[in-house]
Amino acid sequence: RCGYVAVVGRPNVGKSTLINHILGQKLAITSRKPQTTRHNMLGIKTEGPVQAIYVDTPGLHTNAQTALNRFMNRSALTALRDIDVAIFVVDRMRWTEEDELVFDRIKHLSCPLIVAVNKADRLDDKSKLLSHLEWLAEKLPQAEIVPMSALHGQNLDTLERLVSNF
Ligand code: GDP
Ligand code: MG
Repeated sequence: RCGYVAVVGRPNVGKSTLINHILGQKLAITSRKPQTTRHNMLGIKTEGPVQAIYVDTPGLHTNAQTALNRFMNRSALTALRDIDVAIFVVDRMRWTEEDELVFDRIKHLSCPLIVAVNKADRLDDKSKLLSHLEWLAEKLPQAEIVPMSALHGQNLDTLERLVSNF
């Protein structure tokens, strides 16, 4: 069995870090600077009979002013065609306008949606995280919500288990 897994989310939320950790190698460049990933990139993970093809997407930009930004938006949208699962990476605390824009692009998709609530290692305020998770569950009732840390690999096993059910 083989399936395409699109990893979407606003810039700097941890998409490339997540894919690198899952694949155990540096497929995508990660950086504190947004816009490090300029093209969609593929990485394949095979486990038993299941082969998952991860697609890293450049962030979607609210204001696609420059040609590069417009190109990056187009690439991210192209990745959403013919996918089997979408992983929507969001921050553990905040929902921004850019998250809303990404959500607008994916909410109509018929494939299963996993919301990866990233950077949960930075647990400065646990009750805030819990109320954010509740808020996300109400906003995206069709999604599986998984708090995790791409950087430290926390809860990635749960995420990968959900992905392998595609
Ligand atoms: P992308 O633009 O969505 O691909 O984001 P990157 O993967 O390039 O990550 C952006 C920044 O967030 C980098 O500095 C990462 O080290 C950091 N980052 C990513 N995941 C985590 C995480 O789980 N915890 C923490 N504390 N930082 C993270
Ligand atoms: Mg990236």
